[in-house]
Amino acid sequence: MTHPLRLLVEEALAFLFPDRCTGCGRRGSLFCPTCRAQVRSLPTEVGNGSFDLDDIAASFAFEGPLREAIHALKYGRIRRVAPILGGLLATSEVAHSLPADALVPVPLHPRRLHERGFNQSELLAHHLAQARGLPLLTDVLVRQRDTVHQVRLDAHARRENVQGAFGWQHAVPPPARVLLIDDVLTTGATFGACALALRDAGAQEVRALALARSYHHLPPTPPAGREPRSPPCRGRRETRSESSGRSGCGAGGATSGHRQTGE
Ligand SMILES: [Zn+2]
Repeated sequence: MTHPLRLLVEEALAFLFPDRCTGCGRRGSLFCPTCRAQVRSLPTEVGNGSFDLDDIAASFAFEGPLREAIHALKYGRIRRVAPILGGLLATSEVAHSLPADALVPVPLHPRRLHERGFNQSELLAHHLAQARGLPLLTDVLVRQRDTVHQVRLDAHARRENVQGAFGWQHAVPPPARVLLIDDVLTTGATFGACALALRDAGAQEVRALALARSYHHLPPTPPAGREPRSPPCRGRRETRSESSGRSGCGAGGATSGHRQTGE
């Protein structure tokens, strides 16, 4: 039951502290139409993943207003942005193109979950699970070892940081085809470590999808004739990079100067 006084307080708070766009700061909504129009979809093609992933993909470029909105969710803990970002994920074409029997969000360590109060990947995955009519499996893949923030780690250090960090902790094994969900894809190291745990538990196919793709940690272009050591989208890179100049995940353009991210 809503008390009249509470309604009055809520109205007063809304007047004093109106929603501001998490992308640009304008008053009126948490993600304004102008910012939404700037969200850049990535091509629907996906790359073959290394790190035991069958496919790895991202829906949007991690840049501009979308980057700000994701940071507002994760670091500003503005949970109300999650339905907006989850809705974006659920409407992206690539999110519907990856075969899956169930969705599994990349888990947070319990300590970080306690600090943040929610797992942003789980909130995002919830919307895609609903849109696709697939089960969302939570609390089954767990982060059994706390890892340091990956923001300042290079690709190699990220892989070492998350190696063996995840485990399947449920009596029932995972379904044959699992789609991992995370907010930001950077090097693919976290996805890869999750995939390893899922395969150890019995998953046959593991794919990974992020809401947004950061290019900050793409490895430098190797000298001619040499393959990069472990790019997250190695398969596509081998066939496309020479002609298209684009990275293996199928998106164009680096976003240099952008703030790094990662769990
Ligand atoms: Zn805006």
